[in-house]
Amino acid sequence: MRKVWDIHGGIHPPENKQQSMQHALTSLPLAPELVLPLNQHIGKPAIAIVAEGDTVLKGQLIAKAAGPISANIHAPTSGTVSAIEDRTLPHPSGGSGPCIVISSDGKDTWTKLDACENYQSLDHNTLLEKIRNAGIAGMGGAGFPAAIKLNPRGNLKIDTLILNGTECEPYITADDTLMQTRAQEVVAGAQILAQLLGNPKNVLIGIEDNKPEAIRAINKALSDAENKQFEVVSFATKYPSGGEKQLIQILTGREVPAGKLPADVGVVCQNVGSTVAAYRAVRFGEPLISRITTVVGEALEIQRNIEVPIGTPIGYILEQHGFTAANVSRLIMGGPMMGFALNTADVPVIKTTNCILAPSRVEMPAPPPAQACIRCGMCAEACPASLLPQQLFWYSMAEDLDKLEAHNIADCIECGACSYVCPSNIPLVQFYRASKGAMKQHAIDKEKSDRSRARFEFRQQRVEKAEVEKEAKRAARKVAAEAAKAKLAAKQAADGESPKSDGTADVVAAAIAKAKTQDLSPEVQLAKLERALSSASSRLDRTLARAEEAEGEKKDAILARVKDAELKVSDAKTKLADFQARENG
Ligand code: SF4
Ligand code: SF4
Repeated sequence: MRKVWDIHGGIHPPENKQQSMQHALTSLPLAPELVLPLNQHIGKPAIAIVAEGDTVLKGQLIAKAAGPISANIHAPTSGTVSAIEDRTLPHPSGGSGPCIVISSDGKDTWTKLDACENYQSLDHNTLLEKIRNAGIAGMGGAGFPAAIKLNPRGNLKIDTLILNGTECEPYITADDTLMQTRAQEVVAGAQILAQLLGNPKNVLIGIEDNKPEAIRAINKALSDAENKQFEVVSFATKYPSGGEKQLIQILTGREVPAGKLPADVGVVCQNVGSTVAAYRAVRFGEPLISRITTVVGEALEIQRNIEVPIGTPIGYILEQHGFTAANVSRLIMGGPMMGFALNTADVPVIKTTNCILAPSRVEMPAPPPAQACIRCGMCAEACPASLLPQQLFWYSMAEDLDKLEAHNIADCIECGACSYVCPSNIPLVQFYRASKGAMKQHAIDKEKSDRSRARFEFRQQRVEKAEVEKEAKRAARKVAAEAAKAKLAAKQAADGESPKSDGTADVVAAAIAKAKTQDLSPEVQLAKLERALSSASSRLDRTLARAEEAEGEKKDAILARVKDAELKVSDAKTKLADFQARENG
């Protein structure tokens, strides 16, 4: 029997798991309209590749992952894209975001799928690509794209693969149902993940001991598959054992340090739902377009697990379960501990929706008003991440983001165990969620301002460099002018002239320097002088011709210009003759 470790803290809230296990897993008639948010995962929203009016088939890619930390989205049924617009999202903020809306044609016609029977012979990259293309994102609730986890950065050595079948949150039985009904697919999926990770030494399927049927089913599937390497590890039920870091500690005794990933301690952890989705993607080419969801709560006539297409509106699901709005205390997506209240039922099921909870007012009364903290320390005792929740509470109230960071708020898994035990009924976890949101925004703003500062500094450097270069050129010109001036003064001294002191010498020196920089060859100078003579001669000819045609005062004026043109011709001839004389001897 494998040794298991205990985690710090934890609580034992009423499990309330039996209500939804009274009925067998089932499905619903297709909803007339499915709403697919472009962001159902951690990372960047996918990019729509269909347009309004397009017809789509079930399983067809409709939005492409926008980079490595993102996930593809596929049509959950066949029909027509009736809108691409902002709709309310199933998110704690209650905000809206872009969604692709599909009107079902009722035929549920599949697109052509790329099935593969001999997937065991596929290489690492092909397997990974199939999982990536299927748009699988952590179905336990975190929504982290599975392909990223299954390809640890820097080729870190993984010696342990953990399948998370813990499902520790009260009310939720989706994974329990999956393990009971699809145990072979869980095991086949585990084999694919193990193959991807280079067949790690340990493949552990972690299940709490309150799920004996699931434990039995998985053990049977393992023995049917004659798989002796994989191991079901059952351990005492305690909330929140299903947190990734907590489960790793329970099954391996290894602690994932703050700011590090499980792969840094040689472990990869995947939810059992994501594992089955990976199997179906590789074996049958099926993308992630449906999931098992628990529909539970006393405001419903029927409580059970259903397999539901992603995008199905919650309101439609509630209708199919005899929902009485007047009875409900509040509508929750997820469980009572880590879930969040929905302001409207007009939001869809997404890839991470493991539960729709509709408790009655008696079952889950409104929380009593919060009182002042009495520093009892019960929250710290309950915290599975060994944090100091009361300190985090003070810093959250004070909006002291630096202190929150220093007290490792990033390690808070938002399990709500602290809020659950707090005798002052302080909704601690809500403060942490708000603070984490503020820290995220702060980080985005800081990155923006860092980028602006870097741009400004780069510009300053460029301006300074240009200034230095300009100054160097100025200095070089000055040196050249002074050298020319000195040369002229020396020539004048040799010719017996006194140096000019009225500034003319400077002008002459500068002119000489300029001429020097031009430094024309004799051929070029000769060509220039010949051109000047030719142009002066032409001008004289033209002026003479005009003088012949003119009369009276106009003729006199033109004749004056003839005189001027003749002088220019004479001057050009003299210069040319001088030059030729100089050159010839
Ligand atoms: S449990 Fe509540 S009252 Fe007690 S220290 Fe924590 S926050 Fe304060
Ligand atoms: S919500 Fe955060 S601080 Fe509170 S018990 Fe859970 S991990 Fe600890």
